[in-house]
Amino acid sequence: MDLQLRDKRALITGSTSGIGAAIAKALAQEGAIVIVHGRKEEQANQMAEEIDANGGKAFVAVGDISTDEGARQVANKVLSSVGSVDILVNNAGIYEDRTWMDSDPKGWADIYNANVISMVRMIQLLVPHMKQLGWGRIIQIASGLAIQPFAARPDYQATKAATLNMTVSLAKELAQTGITVNTVSPGLIATEGAKRIFHQIALTKGWGSEWAEIEKHLVQEDWPNPSSRLGRPEEVANIIAYLASPLADYINGANIRVDGGGVGAIN
Ligand code: NAD
Repeated sequence: MDLQLRDKRALITGSTSGIGAAIAKALAQEGAIVIVHGRKEEQANQMAEEIDANGGKAFVAVGDISTDEGARQVANKVLSSVGSVDILVNNAGIYEDRTWMDSDPKGWADIYNANVISMVRMIQLLVPHMKQLGWGRIIQIASGLAIQPFAARPDYQATKAATLNMTVSLAKELAQTGITVNTVSPGLIATEGAKRIFHQIALTKGWGSEWAEIEKHLVQEDWPNPSSRLGRPEEVANIIAYLASPLADYINGANIRVDGGGVGAIN
């Protein structure tokens, strides 16, 4: 299937590692021009070089999008490198294994800023340019925890619930502009960032330090799912490549779960 992504310009926030890196590689493989974004120049350059070496085309934009200044820096770099973006993937996010009583109000505000307002910043900076193109894709990464929360990590889960709400609102705001807005909600995905948290959980639960053993416990006890395993970043990236394509023109305001069936909901 030709996803018709050749020469579409795509900014993927937080794409030096994990799910974001997989998205950047998948889009580049489909012929898109990708802008790798991260906070550290060296890591972003490394990822861009890897994409170039595999026949793709990549630019780099560095900045902390949890600040207005950092987000402006990223948007300016993107606009000066490629003119505008056709595709914005709001992927960057942080998570910590905090409980209700050890996440203080400042912690809640900080993670809301990092995970939600960072998305808002990139939307406000880039959507005016997308509107001029008369076509665009905004894809936001939430989490299965947005609609099926646990007691733990309440501050993180709330940011992902906000993301779902924001997507639907923005899809309505951008009616008749040619821009669609969708959410992708991963389940447990074995990225290095997530594994760091899973190792912490394993310590408290006595699951040991071997990854294979930890994964087995996670699937049996923490996130049981009919697919009986954790997901891989590429499995999230594949659906994003499709949603980013012109073929997905009639998918708008949706939340697509990539969780092995772990969220027990009919939609
Ligand atoms: P990760 O930590 O491997 O990657 C996130 C990237 O975003 C990192 O490179 C980080 O440096 C970057 N980033 C974060 N805040 C940033 C900021 N303010 N400015 C610039 N860069 C920033 O994480 P991941 O596991 O790949 O997660 C990616 C997204 O998927 C996150 O939004 C996360 O909440 C979501 N998610 C992950 C999982 C999972 O199990 N891995 C599950 C559901 C949702």
